[in-house]
Amino acid sequence: MKLQEFYDTGRFVQRPSRPGTRTPAHLAQLMRYLSGEANIAQPIRPQGTGTSNTDCNTSVTGTVLRTTRLNRIISIDTYNHTVTAEAGVTLGDLIAALAVKGLELIGNYDQTERTLGGALAAPCIGAGIGHQASFLSSQLISLKVITSRGRMMKISNSQQHLLSAFRMSYGMLGIIYEATLRVQQITTFSASHRSLTVDEFAAVLERLAAGSIGLKFYLLPHKNHVYVDLRRYETTPGNSYRAPWKIKDWGESTVLPHVFKSLSRVLPIPSVRFQIIDKLSAATHGLLTTRLVNSGNNACGRRRRKSPGNLLYSTWCFPAVDFSIVIKAYTRFCQEIFERTGYRCDMPATGFRVGRDRSALLSPSFDETLIALQTISTQSRGWEDFAIDLADFAENWGGIPLFSQSLALRDGYASQIYTSRLEFFRKIRRQMDPENRLLNPYLARNFE
Ligand SMILES: Cc1cc2nc3c(=O)[nH]c(=O)nc-3n(C[C@H](O)[C@H](O)[C@H](O)COP(=O)(O)OP(=O)(O)OC[C@H]3O[C@@H](n4cnc5c(N)ncnc54)[C@H](O)[C@@H]3O)c2cc1C
Repeated sequence: MKLQEFYDTGRFVQRPSRPGTRTPAHLAQLMRYLSGEANIAQPIRPQGTGTSNTDCNTSVTGTVLRTTRLNRIISIDTYNHTVTAEAGVTLGDLIAALAVKGLELIGNYDQTERTLGGALAAPCIGAGIGHQASFLSSQLISLKVITSRGRMMKISNSQQHLLSAFRMSYGMLGIIYEATLRVQQITTFSASHRSLTVDEFAAVLERLAAGSIGLKFYLLPHKNHVYVDLRRYETTPGNSYRAPWKIKDWGESTVLPHVFKSLSRVLPIPSVRFQIIDKLSAATHGLLTTRLVNSGNNACGRRRRKSPGNLLYSTWCFPAVDFSIVIKAYTRFCQEIFERTGYRCDMPATGFRVGRDRSALLSPSFDETLIALQTISTQSRGWEDFAIDLADFAENWGGIPLFSQSLALRDGYASQIYTSRLEFFRKIRRQMDPENRLLNPYLARNFE
């Protein structure tokens, strides 16, 4: 008698299983967890590296299925320029393996410890050059997915509607097991830098956002200053070296957060502390970004194993056509909050140009080009209130939320923004997961 038949006799009572995290080591185990045979607590939520800051990747009363052991790179096709890998491989490992074959990802993605699955199932934004290089999921060609009932489903390039639903689906339609992506030959870009006041930046923003240039910027609202990084493919861009990019990334994402965190312990007087913090940020971006890196490629990313930790962030996107006004309003907002509450973020906010992209049903930039603004801090006391105020600010300015990165998202607001696309996604989700096995309370607020 099979185990399930034995349970069905009623002579054996299955104890409800405890919430927890499982890390399947191979495909069969992943399928078993989802099929119901393994009797794991529900709801089930897939998780990659877990760097999203909302509850999209958690399951307090159920099971988190962490994909990090499913990390094989299956094949790299140097002729057709594609790569096939399991969902748990990190972007850093993928970038390194591609580089050996003279290839790179299309688009430039900083957070290289995130997993391929997480980067495809959630918006993975970088300073990409070109129209379809802002989200990694745009490059997706085909998928192998394990459905909410534990069955394998293959989605090919010819099933564009289904692929479009799976891109940025936050693991609600099934768990990505394997993906094939388009890649490109390593191509050197030139990186030029500007140091501008907020007003000067606002004056040129519309022109910058309208092109296909890669745009990333660092905003210091309390210094009224912006450091701009512009990337374009040139006919003769010169050589690119990995070391300067590694130093820049290390300075920005590891040294600064640690120093700022320590400063808040040893320097209790905020006015002195923040003066030093702003000077250090300005020096780091002035020196590392402006002087050190003048050319690069998408293979230059640092191979980080762990998230820098301690970093609190919330990301909202805004229509690029409005951003010259929004950035001034955001600067004032940060200054007013500081005056009123004494709270301010110590890290510069980071922004990216996100080209219009219709390849995903839930693409934030489905209708127009956006600017993604990521507010970052190491200061935890007062952060939650700040994130709520920031969500209010974003709503007032027509901000587009990311379900994996926008904190304090108000119920109902996402429906106003994603409108009929959200409704259509809900229908597909109900078909793919009629028993809501993959839906946790956070996602249910918008997707049930
Ligand atoms: C310091 C810091 C800086 C960041 N900078 C950026 C940035 O510049 N640009 C940017 O876009 N993001 C940034 N992020 C956010 C984050 O890195 C991205 O959202 C990332 O894509 C998440 O990848 P992950 O592997 O951590 O996925 P997770 O956070 O674990 O999961 C993300 C979502 O995908 C789902 N998921 C995960 N794996 C699978 C799978 N195999 N199948 C189906 N669904 C799955 C999860 O359920 C969840 O809904 C930053 C985060 C931090 C902490």
